[in-house]
Amino acid sequence: MKNEGMYQELIELLTTDSASGKETAIAEKLMKKLKALGFTVTQDQAGETFGGGCGNVYGVREGELDGALLFSSHMDRVPNGLGIRPVEKDGILYSDGTTILAADDISGVCAILEGVRRVLDSGRPLPRLEIYFSVGEELALCGAVCTDVSIFKSRMGYIFDSPGRVGRFVNAAPGRYQLGAEITGLAAHAGNEPEKGIDAAKIMCDMLSTLRQGRLDPVSTANFPMLSTGTKVPNVVCDFASFSGEARSRDLKTLKDYVAYFENHCKEVAAKKGAGIKVQTQEAFLPFLISEDEEVMAVARTACQKLGLEPRFEAGGGGMDANIYNAKGMSTVGVATGYSKNHTKDEQLILEDFYKSGELCAALIETYAETYVSK
Ligand SMILES: [Zn+2]
Repeated sequence: MKNEGMYQELIELLTTDSASGKETAIAEKLMKKLKALGFTVTQDQAGETFGGGCGNVYGVREGELDGALLFSSHMDRVPNGLGIRPVEKDGILYSDGTTILAADDISGVCAILEGVRRVLDSGRPLPRLEIYFSVGEELALCGAVCTDVSIFKSRMGYIFDSPGRVGRFVNAAPGRYQLGAEITGLAAHAGNEPEKGIDAAKIMCDMLSTLRQGRLDPVSTANFPMLSTGTKVPNVVCDFASFSGEARSRDLKTLKDYVAYFENHCKEVAAKKGAGIKVQTQEAFLPFLISEDEEVMAVARTACQKLGLEPRFEAGGGGMDANIYNAKGMSTVGVATGYSKNHTKDEQLILEDFYKSGELCAALIETYAETYVSK
């Protein structure tokens, strides 16, 4: 059944322009909404760490019960998310085909606001509620990376930022390394004396063609789509080439082993051809896996039962703020709100799932509250 309030708020926020580093318009609206709900709201300087103009928004409502629970989603969206015109068809929301929809992650934002409104309306005693709307997630989880999690009293939380039908929770996600190499060759006249040169472009191709990549194993991948030589003329042997990409794995050891293999492989190929080599390896985020017996999962299971939903705990393929919070010692899982094909112009949101995700947020709070007694 249509939830008119949620629908109107969704349209309001989808049609408010936002981008990584440019979340101010959405942030101002959300701060106002949280204050109206009785939250104490602050904003940090996270934007400054990645050239953005906006900080993470943090809302707190002290509880009548012991315990604290975190809910989070992100305020930015991938590029092509300006001037969105949502179109509803048969209970599914789309963009008009020229932009993304940005249900990733505005649907998560709205589900959290709805859940909070519901539990406040119920008048029942609540735990401390911590709402966190992050910036720069789509860039490189920038807002989460610079978050000092000691500001949270919660030790667990729900990140409303996962694709799929409502009832799906992401309790595992891969870690990621950014990898790259710079090859230094030797320039020479390509017509007169090519044998005196060291062709960096050819060496880069050899390096890549013999590198293990693509699907490495069921939980690991590697991808190197960025290649460059910087050379603009055809008559000089190429003296510099570089490429970069990434490796992901849900298994930390496999990921670290691949990074070591990558480095060795590049150095070996370069050495054989007498080229210089500089290899870059940088950890972007670590993998996480939350086991079925952790409290954050038990609460999710019970909350779903209350709503007649079948909970599904699955591994995700991408990185999200939860990777960062889990690495920092908080137990957090992703929560699906009904969107799919996110990051594309075909992005869509099943409205029935979206409305249900608001109820789910409320049920998570209620279920968690039942564990605690009044202060
Ligand atoms: Zn997202």
